[in-house]
Amino acid sequence: MPELPEVETITNALKPVITGRKFTNIEIFFPRLRYELTVHQSPELLNTKVAEIRRRARYTIIELKNRNAIIFHYGMTGAVRVCKPEVPRLKHEHVIFHLDDGMTLRFEDPRRFGFIQQVKLKKAGADPEELSHLGPEPLTKNFTAKHLQKAFEKKTMPIKTAIMDNAIVVGVGNIYANEALFMTGINPTTPANKLTEEQLKQFVETIKKTLKKAIKAGGTTIADFKGVDGSEGKFNQELLVYGKSGEKCTKCDDTIVKIKQSGRASFYCPTCQPSSQ
Ligand SMILES: [Zn+2]
Repeated sequence: MPELPEVETITNALKPVITGRKFTNIEIFFPRLRYELTVHQSPELLNTKVAEIRRRARYTIIELKNRNAIIFHYGMTGAVRVCKPEVPRLKHEHVIFHLDDGMTLRFEDPRRFGFIQQVKLKKAGADPEELSHLGPEPLTKNFTAKHLQKAFEKKTMPIKTAIMDNAIVVGVGNIYANEALFMTGINPTTPANKLTEEQLKQFVETIKKTLKKAIKAGGTTIADFKGVDGSEGKFNQELLVYGKSGEKCTKCDDTIVKIKQSGRASFYCPTCQPSSQ
């Protein structure tokens, strides 16, 4: 699943290619991803300049000068690429946006859990109403230990589950939650409201560092991710616990174990991340 660093990488790569361009045509080759695709029926998306392209959580927002915007969500296997129109369409390229400079922007999604949605923004640069439930961005100054302390006050659910709640903070997906908990020495089953202020401080710092590092590396390759130019991310080579069950811990002699939490795989070292019970 493309997580925040991948979406940041994709969005940044699209910026110079899409900003200031206009869509001249939108072709749909498969009518339904997670939701029905309707962007091709909207005349207000055509022939208006792209004002800005930005990331919010794991969404790419393409904002037009007329305050209409297109949201991309990449689901499990979504990816985009920019190429010439004569390049043969890949089997799972469901949507092709034609640009006024003759290029095409293509949305590929083999498993079709992603979606593309048209939204209207209240003002330029605003978050769409559809994303108003989202918590702060992890790489901004709004994401602090104090914020987590308040958000976790009455939360007895495991920290691993709580930190992945988009209403608390966006973009901390399964891989990064596992890695940050390991680096902070916090057991993933610890009730969220039982973490100390010091642990929360370290946890927040580690999440920021981990995500920044991953963005720098161009995202992970775990989930079929490809950059706009088809290049692959490199972060997966540096994972410490994610997917490492049965392997030796990198910090001690213990072995990484795997458990399931809310249907998602958690990996941890029983020695470095002792249980709070
Ligand atoms: Zn260990």
